[in-house]
Amino acid sequence: MSIGTDVSRETPDMYDDDDTPLARATLQAIEVRAGELTMPRPRHRRVFCVANQKGGVGKTTTTVNIGVALALAGLHVLVIDLDPQGNASTALGVERKAGTPSVYDVLIGEITTAEAIQTCPDAPRLGCVPATIDLAGAEIELVSMVARETRLKRALDAIDTYYDYIFIDCPPSLGLLTVNAMVAVDEVLIPIQCEYYALEGLGQLLKNIDLVKAHLNPDLDISTILLTMYDGRTKLADQVASEVRRHFGPKVLTASIPRSVKISEAPGFGQSVLTYDPGSRGAMSYLDAAREIADRGAKESS
Ligand code: ATP
Ligand code: MG
Repeated sequence: MSIGTDVSRETPDMYDDDDTPLARATLQAIEVRAGELTMPRPRHRRVFCVANQKGGVGKTTTTVNIGVALALAGLHVLVIDLDPQGNASTALGVERKAGTPSVYDVLIGEITTAEAIQTCPDAPRLGCVPATIDLAGAEIELVSMVARETRLKRALDAIDTYYDYIFIDCPPSLGLLTVNAMVAVDEVLIPIQCEYYALEGLGQLLKNIDLVKAHLNPDLDISTILLTMYDGRTKLADQVASEVRRHFGPKVLTASIPRSVKISEAPGFGQSVLTYDPGSRGAMSYLDAAREIADRGAKESS
């Protein structure tokens, strides 16, 4: 099945009976706090890249926690770690030591995407293609490769496993890895940190998205903006949030992510904040953001 193919057939039940104890405990804790955890399936498979060339704005945290939230809610999710730092792989608790089949092997055409997918221990419906140290040289190696901008797209088009959502976690640059991600997806999710300088560099990101759209992927669309590390006590956070909402309008999710110690602690335990502390404000906010994304996906007519 290729990306964008209609996936509105019955949900396969291949994973549905093998939830881990942690996933079950998390579900129970969330259901106590937030009511029953169900989210609608999208009308079509949705493929996102999570991009912002500014470092440390919450790309990986957003990829991991939105992915886990959707998976706990019953949807089938694939996370592709396209950052040599491998933080998404670590946070999802999957193997990424040297020699592990990874996104690098997929990009150079050694293996298929399916051969690199690992199941996240805490969320059985979530698959992850990890990044290993090999990816550090890929940006340079890709330059001399045939079809260098479309390699990831080709690899994803060949996935024949059922997924409702695919998220690609991009590195903090606008190089060939990020271009590969933008060519492979339909939607860009931009996390914006509610702090000074947050909007600096955003123009460059938008310009690059326009270039990819014009030359390589006419379907590319900035569909979703998420405000991260929001501290409601500061005027600055409010100012950044209003400016982003004024500029991007309804693309900005109503839910914003607060600055939260629990969110930053969770990756150290190889976990999402949803499994690490399901009742925390950070977990609830990512759950709200995921629900908004899922609701929009269910309403989309195309
Ligand atoms: P990079 O550009 O290096 O890939 P990134 O954009 O992926 O970074 P993250 O790694 O998600 O950003 O987050 C940067 C740091 O901030 C991490 O240590 C993370 O744990 C922390 N962090 C992310 N979101 C929050 C939050 N809402 N509250 C507190 N800390 C957070
Ligand atoms: Mg990151």
